[in-house]
Amino acid sequence: MTGHSEHVLPIELLPDSAEVGSDGQLLIGGCDLADLAEQYGTPLFVYDEDQLRSRCREAVDAFGDGVAYATKAFLCRAMARLAHEEGMHLDVASGGELHVALSAGVPAERIVLHGNNKSDDELNRARSAGVGRIVVDSFDELDRLERLHAADGVVPKVLLRITPGVEAHTHEFVMTGQDDSKFGFGLNVGDAARAVERAQASPAVELVGLHAHIGSQVFVAGFFEQAVEALAPFVNECGLPELSIGGGIGVAYVEGEQAPSITEWGSVVRRAVEAAGITARVSAEPGRSIAAAAAVTVYRVGTVKEVPGIRTFVACDGGFIDNPRPALYGSGYETFLPRAITAPRTETVRLVGKHCESGDILVAEARVPEGLVVGDLIATPVTGAYGRSMGSNYNLLPRPAVVFVSGGRARLVIRRETDEDLLATDVG
Ligand SMILES: *Cc1c(COP(=O)(O)O)cnc(C)c1O
Repeated sequence: MTGHSEHVLPIELLPDSAEVGSDGQLLIGGCDLADLAEQYGTPLFVYDEDQLRSRCREAVDAFGDGVAYATKAFLCRAMARLAHEEGMHLDVASGGELHVALSAGVPAERIVLHGNNKSDDELNRARSAGVGRIVVDSFDELDRLERLHAADGVVPKVLLRITPGVEAHTHEFVMTGQDDSKFGFGLNVGDAARAVERAQASPAVELVGLHAHIGSQVFVAGFFEQAVEALAPFVNECGLPELSIGGGIGVAYVEGEQAPSITEWGSVVRRAVEAAGITARVSAEPGRSIAAAAAVTVYRVGTVKEVPGIRTFVACDGGFIDNPRPALYGSGYETFLPRAITAPRTETVRLVGKHCESGDILVAEARVPEGLVVGDLIATPVTGAYGRSMGSNYNLLPRPAVVFVSGGRARLVIRRETDEDLLATDVG
């Protein structure tokens, strides 16, 4: 693409296949966003399917066999199949995610089960399906696995989740590697060593490795180096064949942010692993870095309210049920008008949703071109991870549809919810 000035939407935040159409409108995967909005309605998640595939391949190249897509970032059967087809394993963190991955046809041995409080039912479903790995998080879980084993004799391969005592600088809600964490066996308090001893002696599990996940939206690959260094003496002492360093590499959400690529993250980890003399097979579990930047969310503007001298509120037909990240973490996003992708964004408005809450803000300082009117489409890039998957049905707004686009064609992978869906579980 050429002809963009500095003030235009930062094109690197758009999906790889983004291009400007003959009328100055945005195309993704060769599809005009306005046509997609017309056909599938709004709000609408539009994923660049080729980008999802290329990020999965990049992860496999960077980490090799065993690298898993963290499905909590975004999951549906099409996504599960896509990640599987591109050679990734799937990391699931609940019985529900396990169910979707299995129903997509992903072989159980390519699935890894996580969770800090897995139920008997979740453990049993995973064990009887024959998942590849269960990442054991606590002594209570070891108790539970032993009880279940006594009943059926099934022996799953497990990793132990270790909390390395590394504070990756990210939002405290997504920081998970510090000693004060609900996750895993603390390295510094000696729980990690006790857990290894216990798992090795237990007939209920086959201990094959260790796991650590230091957090999410981590911008500095060096924190992974610190985690590897912190873990190395213990990993080497245990001499287990596998080590997963979890997920967590960050992505850029707003102009000017810089994040390492999956490839760069992989090389930093590989160098640290070599320097520390770790011989275990090292893998990872990226979620956000696979899915986030592949999607944009398209909304329709319904109301524009100017408060003189204060600000202009632009209300769209979605809200924090399709993207809770701004409300949860104060996250920023960019905005653009799909009909005028190259227009300089000279005005600042507040993009809000339609929920009965003042905290229902999608973009607090949204830059838009002049001339935005009711009926316009407005879109936010980098919404492919932890948006729809973290969403809710608050105000009983039906959840948006999801389309995958590629080579000029769109396919619906999750249809929009209907009012009937809202009654599907209501048995009163
Ligand atoms: C959330 C999570 C991931 C994925 O994190 P991203 O930031 O999306 O890459 C991987 N592993 C575990 C254990 C997680 O909890």
